[in-house]
Amino acid sequence: MDSERGLIFDIQHFSLHDGPGVRSTVFFKGCPLSCAWCSNPESQQGTAELLFFRTVCAGCGSCVQSCPNGALSMGEEGVSMRRDLCAHCGACVAPCPRDARSLSGRMMSVGELVEEVRQHWRIFMQSGGGVTCGGGEALRQGAFLRTLLEKLHEELGLHTCLDTCGHAPWSVLESVLPYTDLVLFDIKHMDDKQHRKGTGLGNRMILENAARLGRLAVRTIIRLPLIPGFNDDEDNLRALAAFMRNNELPSVELLPYHAFGASKHEALGKVYTLRARRKPHSQKAEDILRASGLTVEVAGR
Ligand code: SF4
Ligand code: SF4
Repeated sequence: MDSERGLIFDIQHFSLHDGPGVRSTVFFKGCPLSCAWCSNPESQQGTAELLFFRTVCAGCGSCVQSCPNGALSMGEEGVSMRRDLCAHCGACVAPCPRDARSLSGRMMSVGELVEEVRQHWRIFMQSGGGVTCGGGEALRQGAFLRTLLEKLHEELGLHTCLDTCGHAPWSVLESVLPYTDLVLFDIKHMDDKQHRKGTGLGNRMILENAARLGRLAVRTIIRLPLIPGFNDDEDNLRALAAFMRNNELPSVELLPYHAFGASKHEALGKVYTLRARRKPHSQKAEDILRASGLTVEVAGR
């Protein structure tokens, strides 16, 4: 594992939703889960990827000749792309006059990232903010994450958050804790089978890691992406509340479902399978969790 360079797909500054104050959020590429509702589906694969937004494409054909691998061709229905031939080189991005193409994922060094977020140091200090490492799953690039967090926390004195899906060996999670002020920890479902159905993997490792964080009194906020018909039922909410109470995890944040990721699924050549017909039961979830003695926040309120 490279401790100095990592694959990043985005950096968002002035973020207000990934920890206290005003923050810069660094998005690591690659995730062990493949959640159907993922709002950043370009985060899932651990390599660079090309997004092609067909609805924006003007059909001018400027991109076709730029591809060194013959992955693009012009037909009656416009540009088509053979993803099996695409080497994610990005050569077709610049020729496009409509910004219909973008390459997601670039290797960045710890020094480059530190330099970029350092520019916002004053606003971090004024607002009580800092830097959040999310994804994708940042712990997948554990050595790199550790070096980055250590630099931000120890040398720059910044407040640091880790936003994680929780599916990582404990040794990797434990290695970054000395340099992490707050862990934002997703629990998607309390039932192993349902978790596997929605995310592709079971929840055993995730729950074990969450319980350990609670026992060690690591400052942790559990995050529940509230997906209609998947995890907003009373049984799951009561099971989550019991688990949190039993493991000394007092705070939960609800992240109500939205379908913002649908167009990106299509742009990656993936099928967006989740078409929720109703909004999640946010108020009911909030009431159940609050009645269990937990501190509850709802994102976006
Ligand atoms: S990213 Fe490179 S290989 Fe892929 S379609 Fe564009 S030019 Fe071709
Ligand atoms: S260059 Fe852009 S607008 Fe033109 S065909 Fe290619 S993707 Fe479409």
